[in-house]
Amino acid sequence: MRHLRSLLPDELKLLMAERGEPAYRAAQIFSWCSRGVSHYDQMTNLPQELRQWLAEQFILTEPRILCRQVSAKDGTVKYLFGLYDGHAVESVLMQYEHGRSLCISSQVGCRMGCRFCASTVGGLVRNLEAGELLDQMLFAAQDSGRRIDSLVLMGIGEPFDNYDNVVRFFRLVGHSDGVGLGLRHISVSTCGLVPEIDRFAGEGLPITLSISLHAPNNALRDEMMPINRRHSVEEVVAAGHRYAERTGRRVYFEYVMIAGQNDGEREARALGALLKGNLCHVNLIPLNPVRDKAQKSSDRTAIARFQRVLCACGVRSTVRRRLGEDIEAACGQLRRSEIELGFWEDDRPDGATEEP
Ligand code: SAH
Repeated sequence: MRHLRSLLPDELKLLMAERGEPAYRAAQIFSWCSRGVSHYDQMTNLPQELRQWLAEQFILTEPRILCRQVSAKDGTVKYLFGLYDGHAVESVLMQYEHGRSLCISSQVGCRMGCRFCASTVGGLVRNLEAGELLDQMLFAAQDSGRRIDSLVLMGIGEPFDNYDNVVRFFRLVGHSDGVGLGLRHISVSTCGLVPEIDRFAGEGLPITLSISLHAPNNALRDEMMPINRRHSVEEVVAAGHRYAERTGRRVYFEYVMIAGQNDGEREARALGALLKGNLCHVNLIPLNPVRDKAQKSSDRTAIARFQRVLCACGVRSTVRRRLGEDIEAACGQLRRSEIELGFWEDDRPDGATEEP
């Protein structure tokens, strides 16, 4: 069965036409879906018989919040959402000066294998459907009672490994008859799937692209990110520049800072040389240590030195603020702890509060 919330207005129109229903039914259904209703009974302007038929054909999901953790430090809220088939994904709601941003997941698990990332432990379980991406936004907004101003696809999964559903989701969430989120308020992050980056540049969607680079040379990136054996540093950077040229939008290169591994002056100079003169920006992300993995975050001094070298090369960079540090807000960590230990373990980090 398909998710009702995955359908675009034109598809609903076709469906209604096939059933001999008036065209305005499609708009009514799309509007209910975009408002996040969870029961067909709530679609009060649809005839009973149509509601019945929809219920037989489509899944209409309801919010299942398996776990909600609120950071005592900065108010960041981390959700673990249960899916209709018993799996779970995470979303993180962050408060910035310019509004509220939700980080959403694109897959259950991930098969990219980045060494420092929790999402990839256990591999890929399945792709999320477009409607399940939308659910994360609707249900986080419902639960928090707040409007969500921007979205980042930086949760669990590799968005471009689930390309069609992700692009469908952008068309759903940006549709003016639905949620109507401006696509300029969305960022998507990829570990560097070059063919999909090029394809995405041709979609005509004004979305910000982030590329997880994390190393300035192939020897190091091979070690950190298995995907580098398929698409090298040079190819990935070139794809980023093609995206910037084609869309006119600045590309963000993410660089996770791992002590003693990729944070030296030599790496900074190599990165500066690689990116110099291009429409891009580097986001330096202090590593969020993952349980059972030995790597540590670079310290302030190393990060500041790295940034100074980039600056001297004319490459702009920002150090990503750490939000939700006390609630393990790095990729895939809540889902992992749920799988391994259950929710109600006592060893929750200090300062984290939790509401069932
Ligand atoms: N698969 C996509 C999006 C998900 S991860 C990608 O690779 O871009 C979002 C970002 O968080 C990526 O840059 C990823 O490399 C980074 N990340 C993963 N694990 C991390 C950790 N433990 N600490 C800090 N950043 C991490």
